[in-house]
Amino acid sequence: MLERLRFESELELLISPSVAQAQRAVQRPTPFPVVSATNRTIFVPETEPFTRLPSQVRTAAIDELKRLYDFVGRTKSQKIRVSLLEPAKFPQAFAFSDAVVVLIASAAALQANVTDALRRQGQNASFALGQRNVTFANPFANPPKRPIKPETIGLGIGDKRIQGGRAFPFMAAYVALDEVMSELVAEADSRIHAAKVRKRRAGPEINAKYWGSHQALFDTAILSVLDNPRDPTKWLWGVRLFGQMIGRAMAHEVRHVYVGAGHAAQGLGADGPPLAISSSGSFSIADRRAIANAIAALERRQRRVPVVPTNPSGQAFPF
Ligand SMILES: [Zn+2]
Repeated sequence: MLERLRFESELELLISPSVAQAQRAVQRPTPFPVVSATNRTIFVPETEPFTRLPSQVRTAAIDELKRLYDFVGRTKSQKIRVSLLEPAKFPQAFAFSDAVVVLIASAAALQANVTDALRRQGQNASFALGQRNVTFANPFANPPKRPIKPETIGLGIGDKRIQGGRAFPFMAAYVALDEVMSELVAEADSRIHAAKVRKRRAGPEINAKYWGSHQALFDTAILSVLDNPRDPTKWLWGVRLFGQMIGRAMAHEVRHVYVGAGHAAQGLGADGPPLAISSSGSFSIADRRAIANAIAALERRQRRVPVVPTNPSGQAFPF
C-alpha cells in the first residue's frame, strides 16, 4: 500500500511539472531580456568583408573606433565599449545607447542594406511582441517613399522610439569598403609621382644608387598599393592608416545613429570628411559635446522602459 502511494506521488511529480510548465508558457512567455539604458556598446559584426582583411587592418579599425569614442564618460563604467562579435553572439535586444555598425563590400548596396536592416528589425519586433499576443505593425514593412540617400562612405540612421510603453531601438549603420579603399589608394597616389617613378625604374639611367636608397623602398611600397588597388593583402604601405580610415568611417556613421542626419561644422562629424588626413582623425570639441548630450538624452528616454528584442533568438539576424 505504502509502495503504491509512493509510486503514485512519484508519477504525479513526473507529470505535473511539465503540465504546469506548459500552462505557464501559454500564460506567461519568458520576459524580454533586461537592457540597461547605460549599456553604451558599439557592436561590429564579425562578417565578410571585415573578416577577410589583414589582421593588422582589423585591429587598427577597432582601435580607432574605440579611440574616437573615448571622450564619452569619465569613469570606466561610463565609457563606450566596442564589441566585435559573430552575429550568433549578438544580444537579443539593444539599449538606446548602443549602436551597430557593419562593413559591407560596395557602396552600391548601402541603401538596400539600411532598408533591409530596418525592415528586419521591425519584423523581429513584431514577432517578439506577437509571442505575447501584442500586435505591432512593422513600421518599415514597405520601402520608404523617399529613398534614403547614402553618403559616399556609408549610411547611418537612428530611429529609436517609445511606443505603447515599450522601447524600440531601431537603427542601421553601414560603411562601404570599396570607398575607403579608393580613398587610401588616392592618398598613396598623392605621395609620389607614379608615372615618373615607373619611367625612371624602366629607363636606362637606373642605377645602383637609386635601388639602394630609401626613396626606392618608399616607391616600391607605394607602387604595391597602386598596382593592387583592390587587394590590401599585397599592400606594403598604408596598412595601419587603412584600418584607421575604416574605423573613422564607422565612427562617422555611428554618430548619425546617435545625433541624427545633420553634420558637424568641422572634424570627423563634418559632411564627407577626408578620412586619410589627421584633422579628420577626431570629432571637434563642439561635436563631442553634441554626441555625449545625444547619448545621455537617449538614455533618459529609455530609462526603465522595457526594450523589445529586435534580434530575438530563432529569427533572422537583422544587420
Ligand atoms: Zn554623414
